[in-house]
Formats: sequence, C-alpha cells, structure tokens
Amino acid sequence: MNIIALYLSVMNALINKIKKLEKAALLLEPNQNTRESWHKQVSEIAENFLGKLENGKAYDQDSSHIKQLKLPFTEKGMLSSKVFGDIVNHVDKPGINPASGGHLGYIPGGGLYASALADYWVDVTNRYAGVFFANPGAVKIENELIRWMIKLVGYPETAWGNLASGGSIANLIAIVAAREAKAITPENIRKAVIYVSKQTHHSVEKAFRIAGLQYAITRTLPLTKKLKIDTIRFEEIAEDDKKQGLIPFLLVSSAGTTDAGVIDPISALSEICTRYAIWHHVDAAYGGFFLLAKSFSSLLKAVNKSDSVVLDPHKGLFLPYGLGVVLVKSKTYLKDAFRYEASYMQDATEVEAEISPADVSPELTKHFRGLRMWLPLRLHGIKVFRAALEEKHLLARYFYNKISKLYRFETFGKPELTVVMFRYIPESYDPNAFNQLLIDEIHRDGRIFLSTTTINDVHWLRVAVLAFRTHIKIIDLILQLLVEKVILIENKISGY
Ligand SMILES: *Cc1c(COP(=O)(O)O)cnc(C)c1O
Repeated sequence: MNIIALYLSVMNALINKIKKLEKAALLLEPNQNTRESWHKQVSEIAENFLGKLENGKAYDQDSSHIKQLKLPFTEKGMLSSKVFGDIVNHVDKPGINPASGGHLGYIPGGGLYASALADYWVDVTNRYAGVFFANPGAVKIENELIRWMIKLVGYPETAWGNLASGGSIANLIAIVAAREAKAITPENIRKAVIYVSKQTHHSVEKAFRIAGLQYAITRTLPLTKKLKIDTIRFEEIAEDDKKQGLIPFLLVSSAGTTDAGVIDPISALSEICTRYAIWHHVDAAYGGFFLLAKSFSSLLKAVNKSDSVVLDPHKGLFLPYGLGVVLVKSKTYLKDAFRYEASYMQDATEVEAEISPADVSPELTKHFRGLRMWLPLRLHGIKVFRAALEEKHLLARYFYNKISKLYRFETFGKPELTVVMFRYIPESYDPNAFNQLLIDEIHRDGRIFLSTTTINDVHWLRVAVLAFRTHIKIIDLILQLLVEKVILIENKISGY
C-alpha cells in the first residue's frame, strides 16, 4: 500500500467511527414527536400538581421510603413515564411543599408560573447571560431589573447590583464589597470589627467565613425587648472599639429578621455608621419587597441610607427558588471586588454599553435568571404584587388579632411585617414541651406547615405569611387546627 492509500484508509476508518458515534450521540436531540410527548407529560403532571394544591398537603412527613430509595442510572435511557413518575412519587410528595398556600414556616416560598415558563424558555435557548457582548438582550433585561430595584430601594444612580442565586450568595457579594471598600487586609484584619445581632441570618456568618473575615472581631450587639438592635448600645460599643484603636468597619442589620420578622432601626443605625465610617449592610432578603406596599414605604424607606442591601425575589416576589439580589450604593466597590482579566475574554471586554454580570459577581457563565423575574413583572404588572404583599401583611394582622383572643394563647407582639410568633400556655404543663407537642400534631396533620423558634429559652410557634397562595381561608384553617390540636393534647395529657 502506498502512503496515500494508507492515509485514506485510516481516514475512512476514522470517519466511520465518527459517524457511528454521531448516530449514538444524536439521541441527545429528541425529535419533535418525542419532545412533544415529554412536554405533554410534564405539562399534565404540572397541571395535576397545581390542581391538587388547594386541598393537598403543605407538609408530608412520610419520607420513610426515601432513605432506601435507589434511582440508578443505566447505560440505556429509561421510559419517560417511569422517569417522570419517580419525580412525582419521590420529589413532589414528601417533605414541605413550598408551592402550597399552607406553607407558613421559615420564610415561605412561592413559584410563579410565569417564572417556570421563563426558566423553560431560557434553558431551551440557553443564551449566555454572563457578558453583554455574548447576549446584549439578556444582560439588558437583567440590568433593567437592577435599575428598577435601585429605584425601589431609593439608591442613587451610582448604585449597581447583581442577580445572584439567592440571599446567601447576595449577602456574600455585599460583604466582599464591604471588605474591599474598607480595605480590610491580612495586615489589619485582627483589628477589624464587624457588628451583627443574634437575629442576623446565619448566611451572613457563613459569608464572613467564605470571605476570610473570620479573623476579624465579631461583636453580637444587644437587642431591645422587641428584638431590634439597640442603637444606643451599638454607638457605645463602636465608640469603645474606636478608642481602643480597633477598626469598626461593618454592621449587618436586618429589614425583616427571619425569626421574628422585625425591622432593625435602619435610619438610626445608618447615622451611627456614617459617623464611624462603618459600612452598613441591610439584609432585607425577607422584607425588602414590602417596599412595594404602601403601608411599608415609611417603615423601610431608610434602607436607602445603607451601603448595600439584599432582597430575595424568591421570597418577597413569590418567584420559584433561585434568585436573590444584591445592590451596592457605590458600584465602584462592586467592580473592584469582582474584577478579573483573562486573555480569552478579550472580545467580551470591548463592548461596554452595559455592565456585565460577570464583572460584578463571582459567576462567569450564568443562568439567564433575570427572565424568571422580568416575565412575571411584565405579564402581571406591578400592582398585583403590591396588593398581594398588602394582603399578606393584613393576613398576619388578622391571625394576630384572632390568636390573641384565643383562650391561653399568647403572642410575641404585633407583626411588623408578616411573622407572628405565638404559643399556648397550658394550665399545668411545661409550656415549651406543650408547644413542641402542638407543632408535632400540626405537622402530622400536614395541611399547614409552621416552624418554631426559641428566643431566650422560650419556644415559639411561628406563622410566616408570604406564600402568594396563602389567603384568609388558610389562616382560618390554622386557627381551627390549633384549637383542635390543643384539645387533643390536653386530653392526652390528662389521660382521656
Ligand atoms: C432567607 C434569608 C436569607 C438567605 O437567603 P437564601 O435565599 O435562602 O440563600 C438571608 N437573610 C434573610 C433575612 C433571609 O430571610
């Protein structure tokens, strides 16, 4: 064989092999019939799920089968009905159902349908939303959302932000920006002081560690009786730290604590922070979007005095999980904290009509998550969100009024946002133990999901109204359930 013939035969073998592999790999591209069949099945499952929400469970305790569950991957693909059925049985049923209006635990979730369609669309088209150059439209849409929220919060035009995956990552971004802005380095970190409270969300502590700030001094500020940061004590402590030659540099307050739903005195705290050149970060993951509701605009207005803020659209805007927002008053710090250079990105950095998400966050390739927020805002308009948030607040007030009048129930206080902490005081039984029995019964029933918290050794049950499907009927059901379960437990205890 001459050299050319040899070459051709080697090439032929190669081409044959490639063609065989192509045929096998083409299974990743289902044809239109298959697509439509999968789509129809998933659509039917989704409709079935939505149809059952109103009378279904908010919590299904029975997860005994999950531990033993085996869902192996096989070389050959499986029947779609089997695969989808597994999700229905093992994912959609056990545990908490955040799509349910009966979910009033922690900070409830949502799941706007328009967002689900947006995610579907974004995934089918898979546009690259990390840099403006790659998909100017997608980046524009994300940036328009950031501009809208900057306005909502009342920040100036110098502000910028990022759509992150949730409040935790959004908090991390703000904290890294604060670290950069205040020039905290390995040289001075042991003198740097951070102020938090016992009610600060734990994602903030996590963020400190990720940001290397665990070597700074962290002070847990005293709280008032209403569980708000004590401003007078804060100023005294900051003054003391300064006198000792330390560097007070960061305060994290909350606009809506996750536990009790109270808003720290943002305005007074901001003034102190200005005086001491402390970066004031407001974690408004839970409460931020109440800025849309008229009755809160005065309560939350002072957020504009902060240096950075976090809002969670997957809480306060009822989106499905996967979107938390950070806004920083001075975009310089955001850009400083997340700058990078890479030779393979040289095409991307030439167009600068809009800030690219990759320039202000830890992410490069990112999901075009803006569409899941943009689509419902455009399709529904803003008014419905204002109404829903007002409604949730009034539902919390309604629950508070009713439970306060129920025999032997007491509350922690009037809800500032939408959290009511309450408990039952039995005649002759340990209150903490009784309330644990009460929550166990509520969970066993499953129509409603509530969570509990312990504050100064007192065990409280919480009703947190934020699921968009929670309406007055559900609040009445909670009240009815509580009475029923209290009677049941009282009877059990007294031996009936
Ligand atoms: C929920 C919450 C967080 C964490 O946000 P994720 O979206 O769960 O990551 C942080 N702070 C507060 C006040 C929250 O309510």
